[in-house]
Amino acid sequence: MSATTSATAELAPAVRAAVEASRERVAALHRELTRYELVVWTAGNVSERVEGADLFVIKPSGVAYDDLTPGSMVVCDLDGNLVEGTRAPSSDTAAHAYVYRHMSHVGGVVHTHSTYATAWAARAEPVPCVLTMMADEFGGEIPVGPFALIGDDSIGKGIVDTLRTSRSPAVLMRNHGPFTIGKDARGAVKAAVMCEEVARTVHVARQLGEPLPIAQGDVDSLHDRYQNVYGQAPAGG
Ligand SMILES: [Zn+2]
Repeated sequence: MSATTSATAELAPAVRAAVEASRERVAALHRELTRYELVVWTAGNVSERVEGADLFVIKPSGVAYDDLTPGSMVVCDLDGNLVEGTRAPSSDTAAHAYVYRHMSHVGGVVHTHSTYATAWAARAEPVPCVLTMMADEFGGEIPVGPFALIGDDSIGKGIVDTLRTSRSPAVLMRNHGPFTIGKDARGAVKAAVMCEEVARTVHVARQLGEPLPIAQGDVDSLHDRYQNVYGQAPAGG
């Protein structure tokens, strides 16, 4: 990712429409990160895979949350190269790109340093599944991924290797913080919000005593019901 970051791609009309829709969604979803107090300063980022193209939309690097607009979002290919935008993409772009390349079902990725989730990451301790809402959303504990430095594919590989062997849409990268995935960016943001919520609640429970585990069979049935039955019929999306 070079310092000269201005690119405008010739995109087919259908792809152009999909890019613009993703720009709108991704810009708006960044406001959820501040609303739920998951980020400070310019840390954190949301991305979304562009429907029908090997592209994704992500936050630009180093721009204040209040200044993020659909037009300031940048478009990258699945190798993390800038395709469209006037700013450098987020410094976490390589990790997002790695996830999109290796997990075809993922349509959205979010990264934050939200306080409680990151406190568990600092101790490399998975958040145990001691709440029914955790069974619903995460299908078990929230796992810890390896220690990895920015600069190559180590963070992306750590995320993918950990999430592939888990039902959780969230991984706590050791000494770093949570990365979450979803079928779209909104799903990944929801996972980031819920991850912080349960990390906080289980932390508080720990202060009062030892939280009680939920039997695996109950975790399985809660997760199955929530993922497959709960909520509106999927017809409307
Ligand atoms: Zn980070």
